[in-house]
Amino acid sequence: MRFIALLILCGLAFSGVADAQPIGEADLLRHIEILASDAFEGREPGTDGENKAVSYIATQWSAAGLRSAGENGSWYAPVPLVERRPESHRIYFFSSASGKVVRTVEDELLLWSRSPSFRASNIPVVFAGYALSGKGQPSVAGKLVLLPRTPPDTDDAFTGFGKRKLQLIRDGAVGVITVLDDQDRWPRFRRYFERGATSLAIEQNHAELEGVISFDQFEKLVRQSGLQAKTLLGDRDALSIVDLGLNAETKVETQVRSYLSHNVIGKIPGINPKRGALLFMGHWDHFGICRVEDPLNPGKDRICNGAVDNASGMSLLIETAKRLSNEQHDRDIYFLATTAEEKGLLGARAFVENPPVNLDTLIGVFNADTVALSDNGQKIAVIGLGENGLDRDIEIVAAQEGREIDRSGNADVYSKRQDGYIFLERNIPAYMITSAFADEERVKAFINGPYHEVSDEVNDSLELTGAAADANFYVALGRYLSSTGTYPGKATSGVADN
Ligand SMILES: [Zn+2]
Repeated sequence: MRFIALLILCGLAFSGVADAQPIGEADLLRHIEILASDAFEGREPGTDGENKAVSYIATQWSAAGLRSAGENGSWYAPVPLVERRPESHRIYFFSSASGKVVRTVEDELLLWSRSPSFRASNIPVVFAGYALSGKGQPSVAGKLVLLPRTPPDTDDAFTGFGKRKLQLIRDGAVGVITVLDDQDRWPRFRRYFERGATSLAIEQNHAELEGVISFDQFEKLVRQSGLQAKTLLGDRDALSIVDLGLNAETKVETQVRSYLSHNVIGKIPGINPKRGALLFMGHWDHFGICRVEDPLNPGKDRICNGAVDNASGMSLLIETAKRLSNEQHDRDIYFLATTAEEKGLLGARAFVENPPVNLDTLIGVFNADTVALSDNGQKIAVIGLGENGLDRDIEIVAAQEGREIDRSGNADVYSKRQDGYIFLERNIPAYMITSAFADEERVKAFINGPYHEVSDEVNDSLELTGAAADANFYVALGRYLSSTGTYPGKATSGVADN
């Protein structure tokens, strides 16, 4: 047990030592204007926009006094990626009883394969429900599986889907086609997948054939088998594998591109690193030049600049690093700018696969993503609260800083959609703390508005009041947690008592 009153006193005394100016909106805006400028072309991994973004971040952290902590003494940790982009496909579905072609699907279906060319015939087609395949289920080996993405009434769409897909691939499925349950979202998904599905080069967890199909096309297809799409998608507990009585013949061409991207890693060395380390992180990447040229309107904006998502988080981390590096700390403080978050948290995954610091010694991880939404610098959402060992310490710092913690839990649905989740999966205390997500209306307006669109750029609607308050909260949190006086952790092993 810790002595809270004593800690509060220590915290107050310690924060009085710092002489740096609080972080203001103008400090943040300066970096956002650069990172989200058209010159950075939307910070797409593997482009010149990446070069500009990672070198800007490394330069800023270097100027702040951080030490480089990437590979071979550099600021950068290479992240090899593979992108598979659908080029063309033909697919015919036959009735397995009569052998007749019952359907071809050209539109509203995208297919890509592990290798540049893939062809196969007579692949049995099955539907897989939400339950993981298990005892008594028909085998999926050698089959093409239609797999719905979002179980009804659950927020577990992301990990739940990934786990089910991986299980099917391990069970020998030749192909997995993702079924979308919402026709309205098809254009957005098509745009997303036309740009290619990207994974870490080290990951071997792909089927020969993958793809995505719209709800309408799925409905028409299963109707051939006398089944209702709504029934199949609506029942969480339905038998997992349903034979559709169809065989597929297909030929798929895919552009497969291997390339290198980079995480940026710096650190403030502590005087007692055996007592553990903390990690502040955010993703630098965004969607790049994300719209095709419109011949009727050639001057139209095509760049997804990602001002809020996530130039705002990076600017918070640059300013936080500047304040903290002026001071002496017991623990090491790492700063990580991840790549390819937008492609599935890939940079964060690469980091935990090959970390510059023993992950067991990380006492806490704090992810700054999409922080520039709220004009309320008082209330903060703490995503990860209740799942982690630092809850009480965060509450202490919040009280010390005059911040009120949002207890609604509304923001928890974003837990699995952010880089910190990769650490949570490994039982490392990971939080996303921001006033932006305490403001549910603004989050919703953002997600239904400029989120992942060309309109997420620097303009009058960029709100930095909350972000500046958040940045100062990060500084306070960094001071508190990096000090063994305020946060003792486990004295012997350097691992926190959580
Ligand atoms: Zn995003």
